Amino acid sequence: MSILVVMEQRGGEWNRMSWETLAAAQQLAGELNTTASAAVLGQGIDALAAELGGKQLAKVYAVNHELLKEYTPDAYAAALRQTVAISGATLVLFPHTYQVRDYLPKLATSLGKVAVSDVISHRVENGQLVLVRQLFQGKVNADTRFAVDGPNFASLQAGAYRADLVKAGAAAVEKVAPELQATEIRTKPEDRFRESARAVDLGAAELIVAVGRGIKESENIALVQELATAMGAELAASRPICDAGWLPMERQVGSSGQTVAPKMYMAIGISGAIQHLVGMKGARTIVAINKDANAPIFEVADYGIVGDLFEVVPELIAAFKQR
Ligand SMILES: Cc1cc2nc3c(=O)[nH]c(=O)nc-3n(C[C@H](O)[C@H](O)[C@H](O)COP(=O)(O)OP(=O)(O)OC[C@H]3O[C@@H](n4cnc5c(N)ncnc54)[C@H](O)[C@@H]3O)c2cc1C
Repeated sequence: MSILVVMEQRGGEWNRMSWETLAAAQQLAGELNTTASAAVLGQGIDALAAELGGKQLAKVYAVNHELLKEYTPDAYAAALRQTVAISGATLVLFPHTYQVRDYLPKLATSLGKVAVSDVISHRVENGQLVLVRQLFQGKVNADTRFAVDGPNFASLQAGAYRADLVKAGAAAVEKVAPELQATEIRTKPEDRFRESARAVDLGAAELIVAVGRGIKESENIALVQELATAMGAELAASRPICDAGWLPMERQVGSSGQTVAPKMYMAIGISGAIQHLVGMKGARTIVAINKDANAPIFEVADYGIVGDLFEVVPELIAAFKQR
């Protein structure tokens, strides 16, 4: 077995999840007694490839072509089919980004191989790799083993591995010039969608009070807002609250929202699904209020209050106002 990581860049900037995937690949290579290499695709990517050359890798593949300047699923899948063959990798890892979700099924299917998406952890059993992914919105963890010969593919969820554990080293850079034809690319990229400027920067907030589905009704958000105001904290939310339009999307914390690292994060009526945890587990102190003593949020909480938020929060408001 050998491992290849496909790093993601856009306009010369790395997608930060790529480094988490690289760290995972290095860890796996150690556990499976094999090597990890990395590939970067694009045009004019020499500096990015050189940066990868400073990591502990067997090789870096710099996959350069003018038709890779802008992302298209056809060009990426074609270029990666060739790169995977050149590398001889039997396991190819990707960050679970929106772009990867777009082309990975096509790439794996075109080779008649398997792609396991959204992996949150792994273990090695009797020398065999077991990938863990979640089903039913995080309610069930499923163990997955590849039953067909490689190359097999897997994408790793944001926050599942630690980017700060990437090991430095020295790797040779091999240039790959894939054969791509403009005629095989069936989509034409338009201007990139730009998000409107965010009114709140949760990433810079020192205190955050976050509200989840336990709040039950949109009218009840005012109660948690009152606590946030009394504490001088920013208000944030889990995804269902923003999906319902009870708070704006820019206040959503989690894998498809903002990543925050405040001094204190208070989670009120939030169960602690992995997609929420990846956005806030970097908080220095985590306080959880939940009526279910078995809620997963208590596994990451430094302080926990098991109780009804409609009883606990008014008492906290009164206490903060008094101080
Ligand atoms: C691709 C994908 C991306 C996602 N991205 C995100 C994301 O960015 N952010 C995110 O948050 N989620 C995200 N999710 C959704 C995530 O999986 C969970 O569904 C979501 O986080 C659950 O939100 P919640 O904890 O508010 O609700 P629930 O899971 O319904 O939990 C509500 C909690 O409130 C408690 N509660 C109920 N009543 C009370 C009460 N009176 N007092 C105290 N506690 C009470 C319950 O015990 C329960 O633990 C994503 C899911 C997918 C599939």
